[in-house]
Amino acid sequence: MDACFTAFDKDGDGYLSLAEFELICRALFRNDRGKIYTLEKKQLNEIYNIFDWKGDGKIDREEFEMCWNRWIKICCRPKSAFLIVDVQNDFITGSLNIKQCAAQHDGSEVIEPINRLLETVQFDAVFYSLDWHPVDHVSFIDNLHLREVDSSSEISKEAAQVYDTVTFKGPPLLSQRLWPRHCIQDSWGAELHKDLKIINNAIKVYKGTNPEVDSYSVFWDNKKLQDTTLSSQLQETGATDIYICGLAYDVCVGATAVDALKSGYRTILIDDCSRGVDLVDIEKTKSTVIANNGVIVNSNQVKAMVEGKDRRPELGYKLALEIKQKFNTVDNNDKC
Ligand SMILES: [Zn+2]
Repeated sequence: MDACFTAFDKDGDGYLSLAEFELICRALFRNDRGKIYTLEKKQLNEIYNIFDWKGDGKIDREEFEMCWNRWIKICCRPKSAFLIVDVQNDFITGSLNIKQCAAQHDGSEVIEPINRLLETVQFDAVFYSLDWHPVDHVSFIDNLHLREVDSSSEISKEAAQVYDTVTFKGPPLLSQRLWPRHCIQDSWGAELHKDLKIINNAIKVYKGTNPEVDSYSVFWDNKKLQDTTLSSQLQETGATDIYICGLAYDVCVGATAVDALKSGYRTILIDDCSRGVDLVDIEKTKSTVIANNGVIVNSNQVKAMVEGKDRRPELGYKLALEIKQKFNTVDNNDKC
């Protein structure tokens, strides 16, 4: 840390100016082929101000210590979790084969690049999620007769077709897209595809187990009534970064990425390891992830990122924002 501070304190005045800090960022945010990523000026200023927590317009050694320990070290040596979402038979060749949806994607195409990642990249933890429904699940169109549709529903019970969204009677009202029966607990359709590599010590996370509420995100059900085991297991692994991919891109993969970002993780969505339902919704998913400081990459970029050799400014910025938030929370608690 001291050597770094001294090396970048070009004028030797005992402080890092904004210009000197910018040089650190230029050294930090680059890839394994020597490409230097651009950090937007506005974001550079914001990050500088976060680490100038004494607010005097310069970074001293004490401030830099926090910057080094909580930011630079993680940018260089992230702890990476790999989350493979719902690569299950029903979504590939079974009752909710996504090939029959608007985008006509072939779900089996994710298996080869995911297996390659599992074989070549040293993740700190690997998770497989499984959609895992009871027979009376609210999302199945053939369970419509089990529940009352509210009079405010845009589509009536009688008119509802598969993939339509209806509003079930409350309280609270529940907006629910109707899917074919799929991923019934312990059935063949709910099994992970036989060609998907399952590695030792991986953690399986089950979602959608409550009959009354659907669960797209691997973190929470759609009503946020109950979380899965994912958050606590991620915390146990000490993960800083989460790589997400699988099925379906614009449904469960997207919802999980949004929740990962909300939970404070540096979030990376792997484009070529994901397939979806609707092309317009896939584009919306990508825009949302990018707007919330996540990144979208292809699988061939993952290894260098996990090894800390390809360091993205978006992820650095996201981490700085999280540090700021935690710092403010501690500050406020102290005041209380
Ligand atoms: Zn489901």
